[in-house]
Amino acid sequence: MSDFETVIGLEVHAQLKTMTKLFSTSNNEFGDNPNSNVSIVDLGLPGVLPVLNMEAVRLAIIAGLSTDCKINKKSTFARKHYFYPDLPKGYQISQYDEPIASSGILNIKSGSSNKKIRINRIHMEEDAGKLIHDLSDDLSLVDLNRAGVPLIEIVTEPDLSNPEEAVSYLKRLRKILLFAGVSDCDMEKGNFRCDANISLRKKGDDELGVKTEIKNVNSFRFVQKALEYEIIRQKKILEKGDEVLQETRLFNSSTNKTYSMRSKEDAHDYRYFPDPDLQPLILDEKFIEDIKTNLGTSYDKKYLSMINMGLKDDDVDILMSDLKLLEYFEKTILCINEPKMVCNWIISELIKYLDNLKLQPEIFAELMKLIKDGSINNNSAKSILEKISLSNQNPIEVVELMNLKQESSEDSLNEIILKTIDDFPEEYKRIMDGELKLLSFFMGQAMKLSKGKGNPKIINKLLKEKFKIN
Ligand code: ADP
Ligand code: MG
Repeated sequence: MSDFETVIGLEVHAQLKTMTKLFSTSNNEFGDNPNSNVSIVDLGLPGVLPVLNMEAVRLAIIAGLSTDCKINKKSTFARKHYFYPDLPKGYQISQYDEPIASSGILNIKSGSSNKKIRINRIHMEEDAGKLIHDLSDDLSLVDLNRAGVPLIEIVTEPDLSNPEEAVSYLKRLRKILLFAGVSDCDMEKGNFRCDANISLRKKGDDELGVKTEIKNVNSFRFVQKALEYEIIRQKKILEKGDEVLQETRLFNSSTNKTYSMRSKEDAHDYRYFPDPDLQPLILDEKFIEDIKTNLGTSYDKKYLSMINMGLKDDDVDILMSDLKLLEYFEKTILCINEPKMVCNWIISELIKYLDNLKLQPEIFAELMKLIKDGSINNNSAKSILEKISLSNQNPIEVVELMNLKQESSEDSLNEIILKTIDDFPEEYKRIMDGELKLLSFFMGQAMKLSKGKGNPKIINKLLKEKFKIN
């Protein structure tokens, strides 16, 4: 048994889903040509003034409400100074001692029980630009598209006790922000990033141990690995009677180790002071109330309602991890109340065509109806879906055009079955002698003879009658 316990606190940066940047009218757009979304404000040219983007404020408030935070009627912006080529102004505008939201709670699963993780605060800040080192041997390039992009930073209390809890918290926070429309939370694009703080202490100690901060870990698995490594590293140091150095570390995903990046700076190193260009942000009650009223269903309620429709956990997760998919699902089941069937078709078939999808949910529902009433079988439905995904053509027309109407008449299907028996006398003898696994062989042959249009359920029933299988 180890004498130490682990203490973890997380700081998550999430990029807000706004049209424009936090203090300028440049597009908040990932992947455009370098330095194409940059204005004089983002460049920090002399004499320009920042103007706060109220849509970013609204999204930050939604993040606060979704994590049970108190929304602060007054918050202020401060300048956080450091020198780096990705920061033209020489300071980052952030919130410091008066953040927009504080004192929240996020419930997570820890093993088989639930645990409440306290959120210390959510503050707003602007992102920095990006340095590109790998395009040239002797140059580093600066792309300022990201400079000034709106972020929220969500900071927990040191309430997490192991790497699994940390990952569980991150996954849940991500789902909640995504569902609330606050952020795309796309980790690959870097719009959901995590700094993990970790320390060990003797079991039973009240005081926290010295922590290290692992910067910018960009996948759940890496967070897990980085924390696991830090636990072992810090434990070795403490067991020797040495002290852990308070520092900022980086995780290397090829070695699964963390490396010292710099000794930890203190707040005073940043020379924080209130930004004289920005008034305190004073929110009136009505502004906050309006946002509350329009919030819609909470993540948990929505989740539960889908489970109550009979959908599986994993399937609900998929639908809820993409707002477009979720909306599509909800629109479709308004037209045909078959949630399980619609969900299956969306996540196993429709999802393939999502990028260029022209098909409206109402028309997709027509296709579902044709399957449900037995007019077409699953295979035909798949080829129809592929066809109409781009054309939004009514599936009934396609069924006629492609002559795909399902054959359900027992007489015609019986004829087909007799023909297959004629074609395969040897197999017929074997199945009649009890080799029942040949049923699927005959099933396949009959479907083939029907050119894929036979109703599989009825063929199956007729074959069983013929071969006297119950
Ligand atoms: P800093 O001044 O280093 O930024 P903060 O007090 O702002 O530290 O906390 C940053 C994050 O680190 C928070 O999530 C907090 O819960 C966590 N944290 C603070 N102290 C410790 C500690 N000793 N061990 C683990 N996590 C900690
Ligand atoms: Mg801090």
